[in-house]
Amino acid sequence: MDNYDLHNHSTRSDGLLSPTELIELAARLGVDAIALTDHDTTDGLEEADCAARRAGIQLVPGVEISVSWGDTTLHVVGLRVDPRAKSLAEGLERIRTGRNARAERIAEELAKLGIEGTFAGAYALAKNKQMLGRTHFARHLVEIGAVKDIQAAFDKYLAKGKPAYVSHRWASLEDAVRWITEGGGVAVLAHPGRYRLKPMMRDEMLGDFKRLGGEAIEVVTGSHRPEEYPAWQRLAIEHGFLASRGADYHGPGESPAEPGALPHLHDSLTPVWHNWVQ
Ligand code: AMP
Ligand code: MN
Ligand code: MN
Ligand code: MN
Repeated sequence: MDNYDLHNHSTRSDGLLSPTELIELAARLGVDAIALTDHDTTDGLEEADCAARRAGIQLVPGVEISVSWGDTTLHVVGLRVDPRAKSLAEGLERIRTGRNARAERIAEELAKLGIEGTFAGAYALAKNKQMLGRTHFARHLVEIGAVKDIQAAFDKYLAKGKPAYVSHRWASLEDAVRWITEGGGVAVLAHPGRYRLKPMMRDEMLGDFKRLGGEAIEVVTGSHRPEEYPAWQRLAIEHGFLASRGADYHGPGESPAEPGALPHLHDSLTPVWHNWVQ
């Protein structure tokens, strides 16, 4: 069985490895096809493509788009996207704008809690200065000893409902799916278990995503606990979605699984890659 891992990050968003380092790691780990899916940018795909050719591994060009669906932030992964497609490039550019202003507001909330200077700290950690995000704040909070690890930074300060959470308007679900599909890509709902929606809202979300052209949902992902896999497997089948698998790898020591290391999809599912020819 081919080892597909269709969700991974690099330094072009909030990962710790460069696109080249990520691809080389995946090749060493025996991954056959890897998607680079940085948040709201396709910047790393060119470098990843060169590295993949050298390493003899298949690169699936991807992106993970931040979406506001009502008050809920969703992530939509685009696979086999065309980074030169105008609507995608322009749409991503628009959602990147505003990240720094949001980061300043996060820093203000942290300052009110007595933690000063976090904008500069997080900014220094972001390799791509357009892509400053909560992960960079989390790393900075660990660095200065405010929390013991990244998870604690989210649990105590940065997650929705916590004191330094700042709500933000991202792309609409409709736009995100359209930007992906217009260029010939496949829209995949990332880590649906992360949104913690009650069954009615969850079904509404899956229904909206499907109606707008979404084709697949992630079932096996580093952002689901293994005990969550069966429920999302059932929901994929019930709602007629293809299934995807990806580590959501951010870097050494920061992710539950390395690229390609998670369990394979259950036989009852149709993988999102079922009709891809190399
Ligand atoms: P942002 O796009 O700036 O809101 O950052 C979102 C990123 O923060 C996600 O892609 C994850 O990498 C990370 N993240 C979000 N929530 C959590 C959480 N509860 N625990 C750990 N990391 C998280
Ligand atoms: Mn991330
Ligand atoms: Mn995500
Ligand atoms: Mn991700």
